[in-house]
Amino acid sequence: MSASRIVYLNGEFLPFEQAKVPIMDRGFLFADGIYEVSAILDGRLVDNAAHLARLDRSLGEIGIRNPHDSAEWERLQTELVQRNGVTEGLVYMQVTRGVAERDFAYPSADTPPTVMMFTQAKTVAANPLAEKGARVITVEDLRWKRRDIKSVALLAQVLAKQQAVEAGVSEAWMVEDGAITEGSSSTAFIVSRDRKLVTRPLSTALLPGITRASVLKLAAEADLTIEERLIPVAEALDAAEAFYTSASAFVMPVVEIDGRAIGEGKPGPLTKRLRELYLDLARAG
Ligand code: PMP
Repeated sequence: MSASRIVYLNGEFLPFEQAKVPIMDRGFLFADGIYEVSAILDGRLVDNAAHLARLDRSLGEIGIRNPHDSAEWERLQTELVQRNGVTEGLVYMQVTRGVAERDFAYPSADTPPTVMMFTQAKTVAANPLAEKGARVITVEDLRWKRRDIKSVALLAQVLAKQQAVEAGVSEAWMVEDGAITEGSSSTAFIVSRDRKLVTRPLSTALLPGITRASVLKLAAEADLTIEERLIPVAEALDAAEAFYTSASAFVMPVVEIDGRAIGEGKPGPLTKRLRELYLDLARAG
């Protein structure tokens, strides 16, 4: 953490060390808040309008007033990115229901939300893992029933990711009723043996991935037809190719699931093509 790191908190751009949130913040006490993450590539925000639309929707679903319209959010994000001189990485945004005496019920409607943003400098395009391909494990999906809301209540994902780390792999794919829901922080895709691009349909069972939506739009250019349906674990293990998507991983090839090699055990050609197409799209702004 560089001493010159600037973050955004409740209307102010502050040095990291000075940005403090009271212990009664409902984000801290109840995970009562929403977050969003956009990538920064070549100094520009990637797929940002869609991330801001999802932020607005998530806030609406739990009855927190969105403190800014999209134009204002983007102005604040851009200023933060510039102040930190980040050309590649992430901008993280979080809005909680604010600070109030601890009580499960909502505080009074005039309680201001806590609004926070920070940036992380990180290599997202020339990621060595994308060359090598990621290994994943499957784990039980322990989450609640509104996974379409991008809530900061991420304990199940924290536990899933830690299981992945302890298994020496990059991501955990969560499983419910024998089918993959999504990764701990990514959307799961396979290319089936009959060359279909398969991913789970949107529902309350998973987050509507912004990168997912962009990749589905690019499928035709990679000569792939789309099938939005459940992916049984057994089918994933036997897939021609597999990958996961997120704002920070973009399109990440998967070369092994639960110790089983996928395809030839290296990033698949259609996955590589989709990653290139996505990077082109991201760079085009
Ligand atoms: N699913 C989950 C559970 C996630 O945390 C993420 C990352 N935010 C994704 C999917 C991917 O979504 P996106 O492409 O919008 O980053």
